[in-house]
Amino acid sequence: MTPTSPKSQPPAAMRAVPAVHRLLGALADVDLPRPVVLAVIRRHLDTLRGRIASNGEAVPDENAVASEVRKALTDLRHRRLRPVINATGILIHTNLGRSPLSEPAVEAVMQAARDYTNLEYDLLAGQRGGRAASLEHALALLCEAEAATVVNNCAAALVLILRHLAKPPRTRVVISRGELVQIGGGFRIPEILEASGATLREVGTTNRTTIDDYRHAIDDGTAMILQVHRSNFYLDGFVASPTTRELAGLAREAGVPLVIDLGSGATFDTTTLGGGGGGGGGEREPTPAAALEAGADLVCFSGDKLLGGPQAGIIAGRAQRIAALKREPFFRALRCDKLVLSALQATVEALLDERVDEVPIRRMMRLTPEDLRPRAERMVAALDGAATVGTGTSRIGGGSLPRTALPSVTVDLAAVNPQALAKRLRLGEMPVIGYVAEQRLKLDLRTVFPRQDDELIAAIRRAMQVA
Ligand SMILES: *Cc1c(COP(=O)(O)O)cnc(C)c1O
Repeated sequence: MTPTSPKSQPPAAMRAVPAVHRLLGALADVDLPRPVVLAVIRRHLDTLRGRIASNGEAVPDENAVASEVRKALTDLRHRRLRPVINATGILIHTNLGRSPLSEPAVEAVMQAARDYTNLEYDLLAGQRGGRAASLEHALALLCEAEAATVVNNCAAALVLILRHLAKPPRTRVVISRGELVQIGGGFRIPEILEASGATLREVGTTNRTTIDDYRHAIDDGTAMILQVHRSNFYLDGFVASPTTRELAGLAREAGVPLVIDLGSGATFDTTTLGGGGGGGGGEREPTPAAALEAGADLVCFSGDKLLGGPQAGIIAGRAQRIAALKREPFFRALRCDKLVLSALQATVEALLDERVDEVPIRRMMRLTPEDLRPRAERMVAALDGAATVGTGTSRIGGGSLPRTALPSVTVDLAAVNPQALAKRLRLGEMPVIGYVAEQRLKLDLRTVFPRQDDELIAAIRRAMQVA
């Protein structure tokens, strides 16, 4: 290739740029829709032409261009939504899709997906019926509530409640400064409040809020008292806040509703988790039933955190309040589809039946190091000295029970560059996500399904180039 001056690039160089149809042919085996491949080729060629025109870069040959485009397409394939093996030990990992579903829930989703359903059809009356009325009934039983309903997620539940209750002339929402929290990426309670048309009436301080702080803040413009569960962090030391029962008493006295955003929504006693001592544990996650029994008018929580179901926002509480929420025109914009409702129904039924081990995260929580060690030993044996059995600490995650640590067992891979090994495992045929500690890549088996063990061994072999 003859070097040319950058400024007077002859059209001949441009003509040497490989043709789109030639590249498309060379990349015919790439498993992505043709228009996606075409768009990447065009973008790549545009960049190439730009580089040739501006700094007189030599035109690479067709094979070189094809292999660059192939790399871009491979990167794109890694960005598609796909299953991964979660070896982080974080049970409810928001980045990894929170709770995996139980087998009955998966079955229910598949059937509902393939077939027509009685989603809004009353089989007894032969006419239109309430959407998922039976699921709402089951949820109410689980929460020991008069009534319950479901929307897209807990954030949506909160927005719906705020839009419904905070209407002029009563738009002020009384909330403690210790509860103006951020949950995960970009979900901030004060912003949600304001985006819903409510006005914030902050009371107390970050660490201490008294019942009198709330009492003094209530006036004619008060729409509700909001209590937000500090799910993903804890306050310790010189702290105080009124109990739900005290707040409920004040709310009743003042004639305003008390709403509690529980977030995680444990429907079981969490204090026995991580009871191994030292690592913490014994944290009590308020249950919807306890919050309602203490006098809350409405509670909301996520379906895919401690409940172990699909993404959903569950609202439970007084029947009149739930009915009114469902009459809000905005409710229609937040409703769940038949797939989510089917998965949630199967999950809630399993919980009501106390078949809790069917729910993966519940099963994972109960696993002991003794349960996990034989699996780790079998894997290490299969890896011929490339791995060792280690220990680690699993976490509940998903902004739930931040102090609860579950002693766990890991498969440890020593490597000169553990970060590079971690990347190879992420980018394998079956992506595996672990964590690096003590110069090792650690794979926590608590969050790996036993059915994935052989797949995990194969993935490790490929990443370490073990024969
Ligand atoms: C997780 C959480 C939310 C958000 O729930 P999504 O279901 O993710 O919308 C809201 N409030 C609290 C307290 C939470 O912990």
